[in-house]
Amino acid sequence: MPDRPMPAFPELDTQAYWDATKDKKLIYQQCSACNTVVFTPRAHCTGCGSDNLKTLQSKGEGTVYTFSVVRQNRQPAFAEMGAYSIAYIDLDEGFRMLSTVVGVKDPTTDIEVGMRVKVDFERQDSSEYLVPVFRPA
Ligand SMILES: [Zn+2]
Repeated sequence: MPDRPMPAFPELDTQAYWDATKDKKLIYQQCSACNTVVFTPRAHCTGCGSDNLKTLQSKGEGTVYTFSVVRQNRQPAFAEMGAYSIAYIDLDEGFRMLSTVVGVKDPTTDIEVGMRVKVDFERQDSSEYLVPVFRPA
């Protein structure tokens, strides 16, 4: 089975984010000028355009905002996975990220909008970086 798609590293704006995954840390940014929480990592604030962003570590706890279940994916790297979820997670620090909810018996029935989840990190294939996923809290 081929490796799953990953960014091409070094990755200009998100390198620090991916480096943090190696230590199982989920990081995000907050603007020092206007306090806007910024995710995904980038060079400028989405609220005011300032480049004065500080990097913070998330506790990795949040709720499922919405989700979908992919029952079959013919992309070779995903073909043998079976059903899996794609979910937007609202982190308690105030940002939303696209991820997946794992660790449920059946993703077609065991995931609910609003359920509490906590981040975990999975190694994908041969990549040195870990991928943040979420498990029921
Ligand atoms: Zn700002």
